[in-house]
This record gives sequence, C-alpha cells and structure tokens, in this order.
Amino acid sequence: MTCLKPELAIPGAKGADGRDYNAFEVMEPRAPNVVPQGMKNGKPVKDANLTPDGLYRPDYRIMTPNMRSPDYVQMSTAAAITLGLVEGKMHRCGCTRCLNLLLTYPEGCRANCAYCGLARHREAERNYADRNFIRVDWPAVSMDEIVAKIAADVEGTPFHRMCISMITHPNSDADTFTVLKKWTDKIDPDAIPISILSNPTTMTRADVQRLRDMGSDIFTVALDAATPALFDRTRGKGVQSPHSWKKYWEILEDARDIFGPKKFGAHIIVGMGETEHEIMTLIQQLVDMGGHSHMFSFFPEKGSLMDHLPATPRDQWRRVQLARYLVDYQGVRVEQMKFDDEGRITDFGIPKSELSNIIDKGTAFRTSGCPGKFAEDISACDRPYGDSPPSNIASYPFELKDVDIRRVRSQLDMLKPGQTYEAGEDFE
Ligand code: SF4
Repeated sequence: MTCLKPELAIPGAKGADGRDYNAFEVMEPRAPNVVPQGMKNGKPVKDANLTPDGLYRPDYRIMTPNMRSPDYVQMSTAAAITLGLVEGKMHRCGCTRCLNLLLTYPEGCRANCAYCGLARHREAERNYADRNFIRVDWPAVSMDEIVAKIAADVEGTPFHRMCISMITHPNSDADTFTVLKKWTDKIDPDAIPISILSNPTTMTRADVQRLRDMGSDIFTVALDAATPALFDRTRGKGVQSPHSWKKYWEILEDARDIFGPKKFGAHIIVGMGETEHEIMTLIQQLVDMGGHSHMFSFFPEKGSLMDHLPATPRDQWRRVQLARYLVDYQGVRVEQMKFDDEGRITDFGIPKSELSNIIDKGTAFRTSGCPGKFAEDISACDRPYGDSPPSNIASYPFELKDVDIRRVRSQLDMLKPGQTYEAGEDFE
C-alpha cells in the first residue's frame, strides 16, 4: 500500500475563487432545516431512557444512552486516548496536555451556531452525544470515574490543565459548579490548573466570581466571530441562536475584573469572513485589556450550517497566526503593521531579521490556548487536528521541525534563498 501525498485541493489550500482569504460575501451559512416536534429536546433519548454501560463511544447507528451532567461529561478523543480509555494514535503526538471536558445533556446545546457540530439544528439528524465537534467525536464518561482516575496519580498525569466547556443549556451554570467541585474535592487546582470555557448567554457576573472563588485559574469567552456583524450572522439572529455580542463582552469584561491580567481570554475563529485588519484590531483590543486571544482556523465542520464553505486558506491563517503571536507575546502593536486595500497584512511591523527568527522558532504556529507547564506561550490545550486534517495542519499540536517551518514559510511566501518545500514532504 502506498502512502498518498496530499493534493493541493485539500481543505485550507485555497479560498473560494482561488483567493488567499475567505471574504465576507462568500462565508454565508446555509439556512437550518425545520426539526420535527418528536425529535426536539432529546425526546428520542429520553423516551428510550437507556442506562450507559461504562464509557460511551459516539455511535449514531445505535440509541444513545440517557446521560446528563453533572454525573456525565464528554471528553475529546485526544483526552480519551491519552487516558487510555479508547484505542488510537494521533499523528506525531504522544498525548494531549489538556483534559477538555464538555457538559452533556440529551437536550444538547440550545444554541445554533452556524460553524458548530453541536448546534441545535442537528436534533433530527444525530443525538447530542453522537455529534462531532471540532472534527472529532467526544466520548461520554462518568465524572466520578474521571476524577478517580486522575486523582489516583496526579503526579504522573500527562495533563497540564483541565478545562470545563459549558454549553447553552438552562442547567449549565449550576452543573459547571458541581463538576468543578467534584474535581477540586479530590484534585488540588495548583497541581492541575483549571480553565472555564464559558457560556456568557446564561451567566451573571456573580457566576464568574463564584467560578474564580472555587479555584478556577483562567476564564475564556468563545467570541468565535471577530466582528458584531459576523457574530450576529453565525451565532445570533442570523441562525435563530440566542447569543449577543453585547452580552459576550459584558462577561468578558467581568472576567477581566475578576480573574485579572493574563487570566482571561477570548476564542476567535479566523476565516469566517472578517478581514485580517479587523481580526488584528480585536486581538490588540484583548491584549490592551490584559487578556489573550486563542485562535482557531475555520474548518467546515461536517453537519454544520457552514459545511459547504472553504476552510481558511493557509496564507490568511499563517499571516494572522504570526501577527497574533507578535501582538500577544512580542509587544508588537497592530498600528506598526501595514495592511492592503482588502485588509490583508503586508508588513508585520518589525525588522525582517527579527521576524525571520520568530518564524524559525515555530511557536507562533502551534495551537494557541491556555498555557501549560512548558512556557507561557505554549498552550496546554493543543487540540490535535481540531481545525485541520493532519495532511494540511493549521494549528501544530507539537513542536515544529525544520520541514514544518519550511512548509509554513512556503505558505507565507517567505522561503529563505535556496530553501525549498515540496508539497507533502512533512506527511510521509
Ligand atoms: S454555544 Fe457553543 S456548543 Fe453551542 S452551538 Fe454555539 S459554539 Fe456550539
């Protein structure tokens, strides 16, 4: 059997019409289908009322058991492999450094974000615990079992951080407190720091304070969309979803006040129709507030309302990744950078030799998120292949080697004199 090299037509190679960025007018979500009454709110799962038997691996061909937080949570496939709960290997990764936990309910997330595999419009197609999210399945497991497993060997754990991802559900605030307490009752939060990926729509400032008081270390808000118009189109009125830009910013500002500098941040997806200038302005705003940005490259998640749209071209993604790293960790300001008429970065605002050294270190192109125990600018949350296939990596979940740097340089059109990169060279 031969190992096929990836073709240029794979996701992320180019945008629509061969452009090197995803323009606003292209990135229009499709309309959600109408969900029949009998499929709403997890009715089939609740009617069948099956008891889970140990870990549940998503399988939409069988009836999903009735699992509900805070007794059950879902975890990323990477975390389940790392814990030895499911078999599998990850391309060039031994493990993940972040235990990502996701609240779960038969009713699922009540929001309808256009790019998300967990969205409500999928009720008729797939039960909640079977839905793909950031390109992977999320096995469900008892929270008490996870805590017992980690608490048995905290010293030896590969995890540098644990993160609770809230979803939009009437019980998610209360259940996040319970899940957090289950963890901190048995595991010292100084040994494994805790992040909260919040759901601002249902939260108050008092909730943010309570999560801090209970021992969480970093609080993040998934803005996801970089502008108010994109937010409304992809997660607000445009797709009959309950979120508002204003409420998300209220909770982000509460997090700034309560968690303090470097202890709060925002998730942003690159390539949903914003310009590079718009996203860099937002990144600068977050840094000026004292926070960080955690970046994702848009990928057309199967079953989502944007699954027909192009992944972010690597040109656009690499420019924003590099510029964001300069602003977040190197003290460069967006005002020093230059942009063309279409908002694309044409000058990163620092001397070429300095820029070249930063590119060669490779850190700028690794997955961004809450830090682990290696360095402030290396994310524990490495999300292996959450925003791309291994054949055309967007966020590197591992330290880049020479071949990876050459690939990145070729995508940035910044190969050094005499340097080459042959498509697929890093995917033998
Ligand atoms: S609120 Fe979060 S989990 Fe729910 S649909 Fe939106 S992005 Fe997905």
